[in-house]
Amino acid sequence: MTIYVATNNAHKLDEIRPAMPGIQFRVPGDAGMEFDFPEDADTFIGNSTGKALALWRLVRVPVLADDSGLCVGALGGRPGVLSARYGSTDGSTPLAAPERNALLLEEMRGVADRACRFVCCMSLVLSPDRIFVVQETCEGLLLEAPRGSGGFGYDPLVYLPELGCSVAELSTEQKNRVSHRGRALSRMAAIIDSLSGMA
Ligand code: IMP
Repeated sequence: MTIYVATNNAHKLDEIRPAMPGIQFRVPGDAGMEFDFPEDADTFIGNSTGKALALWRLVRVPVLADDSGLCVGALGGRPGVLSARYGSTDGSTPLAAPERNALLLEEMRGVADRACRFVCCMSLVLSPDRIFVVQETCEGLLLEAPRGSGGFGYDPLVYLPELGCSVAELSTEQKNRVSHRGRALSRMAAIIDSLSGMA
């Protein structure tokens, strides 16, 4: 079975492929296509499913897409779907992760409620009438200063009380076991397994 992944990000494919070894994954670039989707919905599910549907209309075979971000309770769930663009003045040029992280720590300075969660929504579109969606979280506490050098993005800011370290202090394998994306991926792998023979 072939599934297109609605991303131009090789890092995402590296995470997806080992979770579903029996599937042949392709990206739009493999078919010489440029695919860009404006993630302007106000929910993760809106962006993830919208992106998968948009690519399905181009390739007409099963498509997988995801959208993720960091939601901070005391900020009413921000930056949420705007995580990649947090702090960007023109809304299109993203800040580098260390600058974005510094800004978030500044906005949260002195705030006692540090609860936060990573969220990942993953959508599989077999056709516009057959869509499977999973959404998972990774719950943590926002640190007061960055900790650890692994991972990417907001990882150094999120402390996992159950593991006693920040996400950036985990190995890739450890992170994949507990992360929002790892959890969503294993649920999606089970769905795809149950559908084998569909395409
Ligand atoms: P997207 O799903 O690629 O659009 O990611 C949105 C934003 O959320 C990116 O800017 C990432 O920095 C952030 N993000 C998503 N997942 C993670 C993660 O696992 N660790 C740290 N940051 C993340």
